[in-house]
Amino acid sequence: MAELITNEQKEKQASSFLKIEDGSVITLKSNLVKTRTHFLREERSSVACIGEGCFFCQNGIPYRNEYFYWGTINGEKGLVRLPATVFFDLNESERMLKKDKQNFEWIISKSGSGLKTRYSVTRGSDVKVTEKEIEENNKKLLEKIEAYDKTMREKYDELSVEGKKEFFETEEEPPIEAYEER
Ligand SMILES: [Zn+2]
Repeated sequence: MAELITNEQKEKQASSFLKIEDGSVITLKSNLVKTRTHFLREERSSVACIGEGCFFCQNGIPYRNEYFYWGTINGEKGLVRLPATVFFDLNESERMLKKDKQNFEWIISKSGSGLKTRYSVTRGSDVKVTEKEIEENNKKLLEKIEAYDKTMREKYDELSVEGKKEFFETEEEPPIEAYEER
């Protein structure tokens, strides 16, 4: 497909990662896929954590778990990456409500930025999602995350170089831009 673009500034990098903003309404329509990465602040990039023998673990850079779902943010379908604190808040709600987090809309409040970003979650309307939908979405989710994981492993290979380690630092919640597909 080819098209002539006359407003070049409006061009955006393709990204299947939806961004959570203050007031975002999210739904989760799959099961969870968890990945493990290191965020390298200086590089503004994430790399895979390869587990045993990982260069970044060995250099004392903490890894982060990432919590991915297939769902919606403000009605738009795609990958939803939950901040860790939101994931655990939703787990807590799940226990109290005795219902899955997939059965509700969740409204996210976000304050601060960078290291000081804080999230809180309130429950919205009920959501109907079938087992079959969840299964289908799990497949889509795994496919996307496999592609993401491949990119993260390539970045691991590229950046796991001695002498660069002094640049590495971890932020609590790195900016979502760091996850955009290139
Ligand atoms: Zn690691």
